[in-house]
Amino acid sequence: MTTTDEPIYQSRPCAECNTPFNAPGAYVLERFTAWQHFCPTCLPAVRAKQEQERADLARRQREGKWLEICPAEFVTIDRRLLPDPGLFDRVQAWQYGPRGMVVAGETGMAKTRSCWALLHREFMAGYSVRALSAYDLARWPAMVMSEPARADTTLKRIVSADIFYADDPFKSRLTPTVEELLFVALDERTSRKLPCFFSFNDSAATLLERLSTDRAKAFLRRIRDFADVVKPTPAATQ
Ligand SMILES: [Zn+2]
Repeated sequence: MTTTDEPIYQSRPCAECNTPFNAPGAYVLERFTAWQHFCPTCLPAVRAKQEQERADLARRQREGKWLEICPAEFVTIDRRLLPDPGLFDRVQAWQYGPRGMVVAGETGMAKTRSCWALLHREFMAGYSVRALSAYDLARWPAMVMSEPARADTTLKRIVSADIFYADDPFKSRLTPTVEELLFVALDERTSRKLPCFFSFNDSAATLLERLSTDRAKAFLRRIRDFADVVKPTPAATQ
């Protein structure tokens, strides 16, 4: 058996165009084994095609992961069918950074849908996304009680994700445990300069009622300090 670091060249037909070329290789078990199967003319295009296929596969795999994160009803979105495309556009104008966004306004303006479309874009760009719905929050106290380890892992992911989104978290009156979760998430994330997204159907006044009063004002102030408020286009709501 003869193997050296220096390649030996032998004439081989190109696997793409069949033109003979000097292929580098080595003798393995007394048999010439080519290291390269494409002629210098075909090689750049073959490499580019392989790179494209790898990128396509990675994108499909990430799209598959997205389906595990995004609720089915928000996976597809057609801007033309939205009640307020202007709101959608303002949400999509967000660029990744420590300042998050509050999308506030009446129901039926596709606030949640617009947020999920943005999260999808950022997720496909490589950012990690954690989201909580009002339903997730309603189940949170039970998880803290019965599965503390799982609740701890969930909280760590919420705190460290590149983007956190809470969809209508104040839909119902908050229990102290849920309020605690939201406070910790907001506090930790803002100190780490990680953005938070909220969609609210509430005005600030009803929000204050739903949160326990001593913390509500601090919470709202904190949200305003670290997020820009986006509202429906006035004409679109009439
Ligand atoms: Zn060729």
